[in-house]
Amino acid sequence: MPRQCEICQQARAVLRRPKTAQRICKDCFYHVFETEVHNTIVDNKLFKRGDRVGIGASGGKDSTVLAYVMKTLNDRHDYGLHLYLLSIDEGIAGYRDDSLETVKRNKEQYNLPLLIVSYEQLYGWSMDSIVEAVGRKNNCTFCGVFRRQALDRGALMLDLDHIVTGHNADDVAETILMNIFRGDLPRLSRCTEIATSGDGYMVRSKPFKYAYEKEIVMYAYLKRLDYFSTECTYSPNAYRGYAREFLKDLEAVRPSAILDIIHSGEAMRIAQEVVMPVVSRCERCGYISSNTVCKACVLLEGLERGLPKLGIAKSMKNTQDLLAEKISRVIICSKMVSACSGAKQ
Ligand code: SF4
Repeated sequence: MPRQCEICQQARAVLRRPKTAQRICKDCFYHVFETEVHNTIVDNKLFKRGDRVGIGASGGKDSTVLAYVMKTLNDRHDYGLHLYLLSIDEGIAGYRDDSLETVKRNKEQYNLPLLIVSYEQLYGWSMDSIVEAVGRKNNCTFCGVFRRQALDRGALMLDLDHIVTGHNADDVAETILMNIFRGDLPRLSRCTEIATSGDGYMVRSKPFKYAYEKEIVMYAYLKRLDYFSTECTYSPNAYRGYAREFLKDLEAVRPSAILDIIHSGEAMRIAQEVVMPVVSRCERCGYISSNTVCKACVLLEGLERGLPKLGIAKSMKNTQDLLAEKISRVIICSKMVSACSGAKQ
């Protein structure tokens, strides 16, 4: 016998929400999903009227749903934002070139202006040529460092005030786990923040911080959004993949594990005596950096001198030093226990 939606008590339930296990109808799912994102935006005062906001758009499910939902909420609640699509072309043949075709279609579908900036244009290297030089072991380190800067540089070209990214609850929980596993305390303290301006240029935020990946996929599927779903050619060796597998196993036995990890991460405090990096400017490119030369410039120098492990070896040593010197100083607030079982939304 068909079940009724547990929210409206009228329509037939067609899905079970991964986040709450409620059986609900399609319209109620759209409503709760969009309302939770709206509440995240409003509760955290992410934007102010008139902001020029760039949506980091890769063509994948997260950023496609983000673009759709941001446009929907901006119109529905009259946020007064000027929205743009901002894409990074890492130069990965057979992957990014195809996904960017999706973004170009999204530009037309959502009627949003689009800017694409490439690694080739900014750094003189594509990811394909970097992988040729460094192999497949550390490629994501290069890609991650370069992408962060590339987004900022694209944002400057568009004169933006704010960048939003499609990082979802699963991504945030994975990052918390990875930073714990690596003993990276500066990143651990930053990765739970919903908005950061550590790049020194503009605010960057995650409106999907509490949205489950499964619900984003469900939303994209039910709304028949046009997105690209192929994995990056170079992803199998990404360290994040192991954290993701671990998180999926946890979620299978306890669906609230994703939010629990986020709330635990939010409740952690780094002891005051721990020395955190001091942010200044890279003496070569002027980008924000905690060293005299930023990570992107060190990685580029390694590539250009034919020593691609230059920046990698340094970062591993730093991580080991941090691990040895500081891991024992993490203080976990007692409120973490209550945060673990509380629902933020
Ligand atoms: Fe870049 Fe690695 Fe992501 Fe591929 S998987 S896009 S190489 S960070």
